[in-house]
Amino acid sequence: MGVQHTVTCRHCGSAEIVKYGLAPNGKQKYRCHTCGRQSRDNPEHNGHLPERREEILRAYQERSSLRGLERTFKVHRSTVIRWIKKSR
Ligand SMILES: [Zn+2]
Repeated sequence: MGVQHTVTCRHCGSAEIVKYGLAPNGKQKYRCHTCGRQSRDNPEHNGHLPERREEILRAYQERSSLRGLERTFKVHRSTVIRWIKKSR
């Protein structure tokens, strides 16, 4: 068993997804075999753009609610915490 990165469909949760080219912003796109819908990079994936990260960190400094950030930016709180630690 290797360390396989499992990406799941954000619409139906299926793991039956395939890479489907890149979005204009450079993010990996996926297409789900189960529901046929397309997903961008998984929020827990490390594919966030630097601008996006700065935006989220700025929002954190203003509001300092990880739960709010999760809801607004669809980013996992552990990811935000990692960025906060790095940026200090
Ligand atoms: Zn799906």
